[in-house]
Amino acid sequence: MKILIAEDAPVNQLLLANFLKSYGECHLVSDGKSAVESFRKSLEDTARKYDLICLDIMMPEMDGQAALKEIRHLEKEKGIHDDSRVKVIMITALDDSGNIMEALVKGRCEAYLTKPVSASMVQQQLVELGFI
Ligand SMILES: [Mg+2]
Repeated sequence: MKILIAEDAPVNQLLLANFLKSYGECHLVSDGKSAVESFRKSLEDTARKYDLICLDIMMPEMDGQAALKEIRHLEKEKGIHDDSRVKVIMITALDDSGNIMEALVKGRCEAYLTKPVSASMVQQQLVELGFI
């Protein structure tokens, strides 16, 4: 599968990539704008279609919440139905709980992980989302 990791802290980016690389091809970006841009490009080419996006909330340029809204908007524009939309795991710090609740309540993301993220947390989410 193809995975987009959007995380601004290099250490966390590497950590996530290390946890996820055995499950698929990881593409790394470090801000929300780049995440939206990568996603937009992936919609134009089915071979590049992402199966999963890990989206940090606190990022420069555009935060994860805004990026997620934009990603869902792009899918709607393309006529992608909710059952075939990309699965999104929000990566959050404890004090982002308000943000996460908003995304979950509004049904924009499938899951969230709270930092510090561990390999077993990632693996469990992949099982719950039906990837493994
Ligand atoms: Mg961050």
